[in-house]
Amino acid sequence: MTGPPPPDAVGPERARERERARLAAGELTAEGVRRTALTWVDTAGITRVKTVPIARLAQAAEWGVGMSPVFDVYLVDDSITTSPYIGGPDGDLRLFPDLDRLTPLAAQPGWAWAPVDRYDQQGAPHPACQRQFARRAAQWAAERGLELRMGFETEWVVARGDTPEAEPRYPCAGPGYGMIRVVELSGYLADVLDALVTEEVAVLQLHPEYAPGQFEVSVEPADPVEAADLAVLVRETVRAVSVRHGLAAWFGPAVAAGGVGNGAHLHLSLWRDGRNLCRGGDGPYGMTALCESFLAGVLEALPALLAIGAPSPASYLRLQPSRWAGVFQCWGLENREAAIRFITGPPDATGAANAEVKSFDAAANPYLLVGAVIAAGLAGIDAGRSLPPPVAGDPALTGGQIRLPTSLPAALEHFERSAVLREALGDPLFEAIVAVRRAEAELFDGVPPQDIADATRGRY
Ligand code: GLU
Ligand code: MG
Repeated sequence: MTGPPPPDAVGPERARERERARLAAGELTAEGVRRTALTWVDTAGITRVKTVPIARLAQAAEWGVGMSPVFDVYLVDDSITTSPYIGGPDGDLRLFPDLDRLTPLAAQPGWAWAPVDRYDQQGAPHPACQRQFARRAAQWAAERGLELRMGFETEWVVARGDTPEAEPRYPCAGPGYGMIRVVELSGYLADVLDALVTEEVAVLQLHPEYAPGQFEVSVEPADPVEAADLAVLVRETVRAVSVRHGLAAWFGPAVAAGGVGNGAHLHLSLWRDGRNLCRGGDGPYGMTALCESFLAGVLEALPALLAIGAPSPASYLRLQPSRWAGVFQCWGLENREAAIRFITGPPDATGAANAEVKSFDAAANPYLLVGAVIAAGLAGIDAGRSLPPPVAGDPALTGGQIRLPTSLPAALEHFERSAVLREALGDPLFEAIVAVRRAEAELFDGVPPQDIADATRGRY
């Protein structure tokens, strides 16, 4: 079973959860764990937390941990806006840890972690719970006999922890993708990899990226909710290792306003009955008709999806042509300048065929993003959409392709017009997203680009 019990089963199911938590807490205590961090990601993309001593975990699993719903309208700088359904100081929610995900944190000795689902006091799902939205979206796919496998890439820039605001100092000087960086930081990178492996995260690879101090780690695909959970766990693990090395890890979309930024590309493949629908079909590059329609739905919705996947004013400093960030509304085979890069993989690797949506970054709430992408893809299937012809080469040089929105307000306009996303998200969540995006656009209106980057790079 994935996820907590259904909300209507408050009584007996909760007692069972309590018992499971009691047993898990006993095992963790024997391993030296004394406390648990319970996280969720807010609308602005910030991971928020409550922590409980391990002795309180069983209580938390049965009754939840209190937290205000106002965090749904928090901004990146911790100021607070309001929305038609959510806002203000009143009310409280209950956070229920997902015990299936309870993980001892390798780089924070004595700590474990679990993501939470948010319910109201009566035990009904909180309408703006992003994690339950992701689970609902996976369920919509399941109702059509479809399964999604997804994985986020994690890019970050590592800087010296004592870096002054405007002047990053990097602990490595080697070239992009260069072995020198791995030599310079071999202890740090070993600790990152070891921590992830200890946490049983299925790491695929880790490499130096293009920008100064930049690295990337990728993990095996998982079901959508787990992929979003992993995005959180990987990021917080990299951060914790960095802190132990006296370093800062910046996951924000923009670090140097004129340079290559941090993406959080989303890989996805569509499956039915154990078969990867991204291959073995009659469509372009062997994709099946279902896969093609799903990707066409995502491609069509991309301008609106940016309000979720590139949700910060800083995102648009990153979204520049010719930086492999996918700023044109097109797709191509292994094309790193297309918003959707289709990957066939080797002919004998059935799991390898997938699509990578490149335009997204780590300011995105990963739960909202997987759910919204699924909703858009399923709308493409329902409408029987086909893909336009694939694009080769850099559209910035060859021309002829539509540029995705170049500002948060422009993306928000598309989002507000998207009936598909409004219906999928439901009004409370939809309106909270609109309110937070509007408020962040205002917050940074007229602010010089480097100041936006400085104010956001270390917040996510
Ligand atoms: N750092 C680039 C971005 O902002 C991506 C580089 C890559 O293709 O991995 O998306
Ligand atoms: Mg990369």
